[in-house]
Amino acid sequence: MKKNTAKAEYSRYIKEIEGTTSDNDERIIGFSIRENKEKLIPLNKIPGLLFDKPQKIYLAREGIVSKIGRITARLKSECSMSLYVTDAYRPLRTQEIYWRRSLRETKRKYPQITNPEKIKEIVSRFTAPPERAQHCTGGSVDVLLYDLNKDKILDDFDENDESNYNELMYTDNPRVKEPEKSNRQLLKKYMEMEDFVNYPLEWWHYSYGNAEWAIYKKRKYAVYGPVENS
Ligand SMILES: [Zn+2]
Repeated sequence: MKKNTAKAEYSRYIKEIEGTTSDNDERIIGFSIRENKEKLIPLNKIPGLLFDKPQKIYLAREGIVSKIGRITARLKSECSMSLYVTDAYRPLRTQEIYWRRSLRETKRKYPQITNPEKIKEIVSRFTAPPERAQHCTGGSVDVLLYDLNKDKILDDFDENDESNYNELMYTDNPRVKEPEKSNRQLLKKYMEMEDFVNYPLEWWHYSYGNAEWAIYKKRKYAVYGPVENS
C-alpha cells in the first residue's frame, strides 16, 4: 500500500514537471523580444573556468560572461569549486544539424511510431527545434560543477550515452541520490544568485535573458533573441 502511494506520487511529479517546462514550450515562438544587442564574446577568458573542449571558443552574451565570471570566483573562494562548461552559444545551423540528427535517431528507435508530430514531440523533449532553441540566443549555458581539490567533474553527464537520457536528468527528481542530489542544489543556488533559471528536465542547463528565462520569470519580454554569429 505504502509502496503504491510512493509510486503514484512519483508519477504525479513526472507528469507535472513534464507539463510545466519551457524549453519546448509553444510560447517561446513569437515571444516578445526587446533585443538589447549585447555582443557574443568568449567565456574562455574567465580565470579558473573549465571547458569540455579547451581549444574551442565558447561564446555567450556579454551579460552572461560577467555573470559566469562572478559565479566562478564565488565558487572558488567559498567551496573550492569551479564551473565546467559543456556548451554555450550555438549557431542556428548547428542546432538544425542536431535537430535533424535526433529526428533520424528517434525514427530508427521507434519504427512503430509513424506520426511525424509524435516523433517531433519525443525529440523536442531533449533537443530543441531550431526555432525554439535557447542556446542560439547566447543566453543559455550547460554547466557542471568541478571540484578543484579532487581535480574532477562532479556528476559528469555523458551525452553520447543514450541510456543517460531518462527521468534522472530532471533536476529535482526525488529518486536522485546523494551526493548528486546536493551537488545539483549547490549548482542551482550559485546560478540563481545571478538570476539564471534552470530547465527542470536537464539539471545542467541554465538560461538568462532569453524567452525561456522570461517565461519562467513571468516577464513580459526577453532581452536576448536568436543571433547569428557574424
Ligand atoms: Zn543546454
